[in-house]
Amino acid sequence: MPHDDGAHPSVEQAHAKAYVLTTPSRPFLEALARVAGPQRLAVAKRLQADATVKDGIAGWGLLDEAAAFKLLQYAGRQMCEELGYEPPTMKVQPGVIANRAGLYDDASDTLAINAELLKTRSAYSALATVLHEVRHAIQHRIVAATQTDNDLVTLAAGYKARPAAGNPAAYGDYVHLTTEFDAFQFGNCVASILSKGKFDDTQFGTVDTHFDAKGLVIFDLLNLPAELDLKGRILAVNVAEADALGLIVN
Ligand SMILES: [Zn+2]
Repeated sequence: MPHDDGAHPSVEQAHAKAYVLTTPSRPFLEALARVAGPQRLAVAKRLQADATVKDGIAGWGLLDEAAAFKLLQYAGRQMCEELGYEPPTMKVQPGVIANRAGLYDDASDTLAINAELLKTRSAYSALATVLHEVRHAIQHRIVAATQTDNDLVTLAAGYKARPAAGNPAAYGDYVHLTTEFDAFQFGNCVASILSKGKFDDTQFGTVDTHFDAKGLVIFDLLNLPAELDLKGRILAVNVAEADALGLIVN
């Protein structure tokens, strides 16, 4: 993780984080809170009430790879159904996919899950990853359709702006890209609720995507002081993240 040795790399490489923190991104964050916020809770509630998901999580360590994939695919489809979107194709990819646990390809509308993810010890980590990738598929559907709702227009514009931010080297920047910020929040929030707050998402997108057992975000970018200049706001994010994680930032 990029936090452990002194200053957060995002202070130096703040382009992507700057994207989320710039004034025009406030409407994006606000639209995200209004649209995705209730959606995350609805998906968590649905999965929580689902016996297949409940039993699957309880017996996760005993599932073979085929059964583990079936469970993750089922949860992903439940999420799509709850939100009214067609599910993407899901498949298991042997070996490492570009050093990632999962990958969504919008050209083929296919979500590939790293086979290693099926052997991970935590069902919640696996679920968070899959729901993260499913969220990317939904983002693609939001961008592809003609939107009339103001918030969806704002979100589509934010998602579309993501490639312009490039591929930041620092993890703290990567997780603040519009599409990633949304996807991390989605998977992490649902996993936090399902695990009653036990899911540790500090490996899954830093503290501003960190949720408690009720699905409430512990640190919210929207709470940052708006009057600070950009550099000041980035520093404020880094300090708040570090504080919440109990890390030391010099
Ligand atoms: Zn992602």
